[in-house]
Amino acid sequence: MDEFGMGSKNMFSIYGAALNPHTPESDVKRGDLTELDRHTPGGSSGGSAAAVAAGMCRAALGSDTGGSVRLPAAWCGVVGFKPTFGRISRHGLVAYGSSLDTIGIIARNVEDVQSVFGVAAVPDPLDMTCMSSSLRERIKTLTNSRPWTMKLQGRNETGSAPLAGIRVGIPEEYWVNELSAPALESWKAGASRLAALGCDVVSVSLPHTSSALPAYYTLAWAEASSNLARYDGIRYGRRSSIRPDTRDLQNASQKYANTRSEGFGAEVQRRILLGTYVMSSAASEHYFTPSQKIRRLIQEEFDSVFALPNALSMTNPPTPRPTSRPPGIDVLLFPTATGAAPRLGDQENSRVANYVNDVMTVPASLAGIPAISVPVGRTDGMPLGLQLAAQYGDDELLLHVARYL
Ligand code: GLN
Repeated sequence: MDEFGMGSKNMFSIYGAALNPHTPESDVKRGDLTELDRHTPGGSSGGSAAAVAAGMCRAALGSDTGGSVRLPAAWCGVVGFKPTFGRISRHGLVAYGSSLDTIGIIARNVEDVQSVFGVAAVPDPLDMTCMSSSLRERIKTLTNSRPWTMKLQGRNETGSAPLAGIRVGIPEEYWVNELSAPALESWKAGASRLAALGCDVVSVSLPHTSSALPAYYTLAWAEASSNLARYDGIRYGRRSSIRPDTRDLQNASQKYANTRSEGFGAEVQRRILLGTYVMSSAASEHYFTPSQKIRRLIQEEFDSVFALPNALSMTNPPTPRPTSRPPGIDVLLFPTATGAAPRLGDQENSRVANYVNDVMTVPASLAGIPAISVPVGRTDGMPLGLQLAAQYGDDELLLHVARYL
């Protein structure tokens, strides 16, 4: 994995990147492949996805702060599920961005993901952000109040329209310039497949999508700088072996600096520095505060398109959807990444190009809603993933639709 979960290509690890088990046909015949010619499994949980794809294990856990379970799953041709924020305990996870960090599940098919989820998605007093039993009950009541939900279990799986009644939204704003032709084709094919299964497929608009990436990278880094402050070598974490002269203050602070410089990789240091900066009194009103506002707008936008009310903002009884709005949708469908896995040595591996990989995954992270990447085919032998997202708490419906897709 990338150090502290920070990365999208598995390159920020002191052990070196995990390798994608898939290789294009043309490469198999070449005898001179170096590691840089191989493809990234994606990140940050690239090792988890590569291990599942290579058949080394049936399922693996990963942590998804901004896409780190979904992106490697897509690039390794397996399923990657980020549940609703709070469904699975984070006890034991090293924190990156606490308001975003979510334990996710990687497996070769949705059924295996469902099995692991059934065991893992339980309340835990050791993680105060893990959903309480009462919130879980409230969500269940809400999702079960849908007229067709009760039929999910007993649906005739071989029938011609097993997903009839489910409305799928295609968000216009995910049609970004960076989207490759194969990713676009797979998106269209996925929409047709869901329509053939009986879904109503409609276009929806989420206007603030383009602001999600800068907002994510501001908030995640701010939280990281705070979370990683404990690695000071005094109370916690690695300590530099250079002995300090306690009578010389400058020397002591040098020791502190050595500890933080030796103990963190360059990317982690960059994020800590920028995260500290965006929260400083001079900069917070330009970066941190606007990012929080963007996050709220993105959450509200998702709420405005889903038919199911958000259990967190729910009044009692739930406010019905205003009739002035078009009927709501149940799941959103869009690509997981703009294309297939790049090679580890690609020139496109600039820092900004790395961050752009997350453009499709961070909106669901900011909103805390469940999202899943399922494999949908290949381009030049390399897998592509499609993503489904659903309203906060609607994980079971999401998994149900994902199974068919
Ligand atoms: N690539 C994103 C980042 O570097 C997401 C990482 C994650 O989900 N852990 O922050």
